[in-house]
Amino acid sequence: MAQVQVACDKCGGKLVPDAAYCERCGERTHRARRLVRLAIRVELLFLLMVIGLVVAFAWIYSVQK
Ligand SMILES: [Zn+2]
Repeated sequence: MAQVQVACDKCGGKLVPDAAYCERCGERTHRARRLVRLAIRVELLFLLMVIGLVVAFAWIYSVQK
């Protein structure tokens, strides 16, 4: 799983280890794309949690009356 990308997909330029972007053309590396996908997933999960909490509180409030 931990394969390191050594060259840019777009221009073929050599990449600095752990780089998020290509220094030559600015293309995102595999690592950066994976991190962005992970960030979106975490954000969606957080949003669902907030919605769940709001629904739960609304339900508790309506039951307590
Ligand atoms: Zn490049």
